[in-house]
Amino acid sequence: MKAWSPVSVDDLSASIVFPQFRLTDTASSNKKFLSKKQIYRMYVCGITPYDATHLGHAATYLSFDLIHRLLLASGAAVNYVQNITDIDEPLLERAVRDGVKWDELAADQIELFRHDMEALNVIPPTSYMGAIESIPLVTQAIDDMTRSKRTYQIENDWYFSVNHDGKFGSISHLSHSEMVELFSQRGGDPTLSGKKDALDCLIWMQQRPNEPGWPSAHGFGRPGWHIECTAIAMKYLQPDSNEETLIDIQGGGSDLIFPHHEMCASQARAISGKELASHYVHAGMIGLDGEKMSKSKGNLVFVSALLASGVDPFAIRWSLMRDHYRTERMWTNERLIQATEEVRRLRQVMSSKTIAPTDALAVSIVEFLANDLDTSSVVKAVNNWVDATLNGGTGGDIKQISSIMENLLGFAFT
Ligand code: ZN
Repeated sequence: MKAWSPVSVDDLSASIVFPQFRLTDTASSNKKFLSKKQIYRMYVCGITPYDATHLGHAATYLSFDLIHRLLLASGAAVNYVQNITDIDEPLLERAVRDGVKWDELAADQIELFRHDMEALNVIPPTSYMGAIESIPLVTQAIDDMTRSKRTYQIENDWYFSVNHDGKFGSISHLSHSEMVELFSQRGGDPTLSGKKDALDCLIWMQQRPNEPGWPSAHGFGRPGWHIECTAIAMKYLQPDSNEETLIDIQGGGSDLIFPHHEMCASQARAISGKELASHYVHAGMIGLDGEKMSKSKGNLVFVSALLASGVDPFAIRWSLMRDHYRTERMWTNERLIQATEEVRRLRQVMSSKTIAPTDALAVSIVEFLANDLDTSSVVKAVNNWVDATLNGGTGGDIKQISSIMENLLGFAFT
């Protein structure tokens, strides 16, 4: 799948000392150091293209963009893979509701997503993979899991068995009954008769009437969602057999912790015997005016709508950086107005001939980012520096701070 326009990040390791990067791992509930490496492998779950790109998506992809930038700027390489679930239940349901063809709806929304990511200056993935084009990988993964006796059939659908995985639950830390409830709310089928465990998940669905299907070794049909990500991550991130985990970072919004990331990790263990990721990283949800933002409430705020109304894309980026990525945040118009004003002041200062001293600010930004992506402190530090400049401060190095703004924070002011 075509991604979007490339964004380059300079290696700043010759001029900046990068502290070791600490990032909260949901599985251990700890801020854990990321091992120093030449190459990092990061997988972030992509959208299902029926409703792109709301602010929750933007917050998630921005958070992983900042992680990506910090790793690249520190001199490492990053293999970054993102999927796009271009066939799944919600897409088909939306197409029926709106009376459009599912594949045309998907193509339109994928194009919109690319445009939004470009506007927000998000670095594209190294490999951007659709579910449909990954069907051969999915059937291979099902074969591998069948060899380890972790699959079974109900009629002509294939299921992954979560039993015999002693580590199932090690990311979400939920009880079985809590898992069943969430599984039901998030697209699972816990009450289906014939299942060995209520939590077993669908990995290959036989074609249903009036729905699309593709030929495979497991019948004519389509892949389940969880196995799609597992198979894509294990193929395109090219795990190194000498490493303890298959990849470094498995990421997404906090609504993916269960069942999605729990299932992916369990499937990866069934296939490889290894843990999928050293860090399971999750961004908090975005609410609107005191309420949860969700498609069922119909209160999603779309990036494309904000851009069409003339909002500065950097103000969206800035506004989402004001809070820590893991917190549940509220989006309000006041926040956007405030962020727009702060970005306006920042643009003004970045085009000034003289600026307040930048050495301490540069060090602080890197240290805050390396400490579990503390963007809230970054925003405060930058605002204080903008104040100092507007109050007549001098002695700063515009090249130095422009480089930090552009490479690490994604604000290219030139
Ligand atoms: Zn995923």
